[in-house]
Amino acid sequence: MTQAINSTQALYRCLPAMDSLLLIPQVIGFIEQQGKPWIKSLLTQMLDDARQQITNSQSLPNWCLDSANITTELASRISKAQRQSMTPVINLTGTVLHTNLGRSQMCEAAIDAVTQVMRSPVPLEFDMGQGKRGHRDSAISALIHELTGADSCCIVNNNAAAVLLMLAATSAGKEVIVSRGELVEIGGAFRIPDIMAQAGCKLVEVGCTNRTHLKDYAAAITENTAAIMKVHTSNYHISGFTKVTEEAELAALCKDKGIALISDLGSGALTDLSRFGLSKEPMPQQMLKDGVNLVSFSGDKLLGGPQAGLVVGDAELIAKLQAHPLKRALRCDKMTLAALEATLMQYRNPQTLDSQLPIFRKLSRPLVELEQLAQTLQQQLVDSVNSSLFDVTIQACQTQVGSGSQPDVLLDSVALCFAVNPAAAKGHSSLTVLQLDKHFKAASLPIIGRITTNQLWLDLRGADCDSQLIEVLTTSLLRFHREMGFHREIGFEIKSPEVAS
Ligand SMILES: *Cc1c(COP(=O)(O)O)cnc(C)c1O
Repeated sequence: MTQAINSTQALYRCLPAMDSLLLIPQVIGFIEQQGKPWIKSLLTQMLDDARQQITNSQSLPNWCLDSANITTELASRISKAQRQSMTPVINLTGTVLHTNLGRSQMCEAAIDAVTQVMRSPVPLEFDMGQGKRGHRDSAISALIHELTGADSCCIVNNNAAAVLLMLAATSAGKEVIVSRGELVEIGGAFRIPDIMAQAGCKLVEVGCTNRTHLKDYAAAITENTAAIMKVHTSNYHISGFTKVTEEAELAALCKDKGIALISDLGSGALTDLSRFGLSKEPMPQQMLKDGVNLVSFSGDKLLGGPQAGLVVGDAELIAKLQAHPLKRALRCDKMTLAALEATLMQYRNPQTLDSQLPIFRKLSRPLVELEQLAQTLQQQLVDSVNSSLFDVTIQACQTQVGSGSQPDVLLDSVALCFAVNPAAAKGHSSLTVLQLDKHFKAASLPIIGRITTNQLWLDLRGADCDSQLIEVLTTSLLRFHREMGFHREIGFEIKSPEVAS
């Protein structure tokens, strides 16, 4: 007992003092680059960890040996702490608009626009000689008018915010009628009844889950009704014996009764998606033509822009949204507005739209190209890795759009599939594709696939840059084999039955 205490105390005495650490020339170098407070706090953490190790296992960490080891340990802690969490990944999950991977990728024009406004002051709300203070949404408003015919628009943080503001500004303290078939829940706790309550509106449900008629809406209108709201059932589909009341019919009813017709479109495509083999997503411009007063949709779903919520429609109602105190809390910053403006400008030219916006580039990429990419990748992997631990096959698969858009529609695609090669993996009986998946995710450019039935699937429709993917995948697979102590030569040996027996 006393001996243990004595040896523990002896170990404590071996720990270098902070003052001496701060005098090591390399540590002084780090302090010059990074500043003293941070380096000192990293060293404090190292000493704390060392004391912990002494207490737990009566041993010293290796870095205590000499100043070279100390600086190596410090350098590794510095570089670990400097690694940013939001670095690029390759999304081969089979979901193009993956909410957990940040949804839309921006077009180059949007990237340039954002970079510029980040560096400089910009006339976000500044009078540039026209005699009035500009509004931060006015540039987008003009573009939206050009593209959809809407009088005006209001831009906020996301579509959830757009719906909240739309309801609060038009209908607080009053009744809003919604079909029972459209009481949508979007992931992340966005539920129509809850948003309604947050906006201070009274939800009036009408009709049934599968059928809601015009007369159901008409019968529910009272002197307290402010609006009828339509919600696009973007992440589910009701089929069979169904009836939805179309916007045009509702518009006539609302106009007659002097109430507003508002619509949450969710994705809200500005262009017809049938050319990709997707079904027709309701378009804001059509809704406005049908007589809807306000339409809201996301910036980063099928629009292909930054996270934002757009409310477009009647000037008078938009003015109410702009004047509402919530607008101040939900408004977008200059970076979002610049990215959105640049993205919307792409819609002026339908000829180049599909090549400019990453989302459409991916959705429109021909299957034969993906098949060729799969073959090249497979060949490369065999050539460079002799991918012995895994069988790599090419499989047909289907990509989904994601983010609650078009839940029923799947696009044909091709996947590279990894399965453990049982003959080669004999010396690694516990090997699973989960390990490979983990390894791919830990790469400096992580590759994110999907695991089904003991196979790791990499859906190639998500690829951005073929040559980069080939490079990253080959290197990463090679490294995996090295780390498993499974070199090319060993691979051949283990594969042969004589050795295995
Ligand atoms: C996606 C969606 C929302 C939420 O939009 P965010 O931009 O994610 O906030 C709201 N309503 C519908 C119908 C949606 O599909």
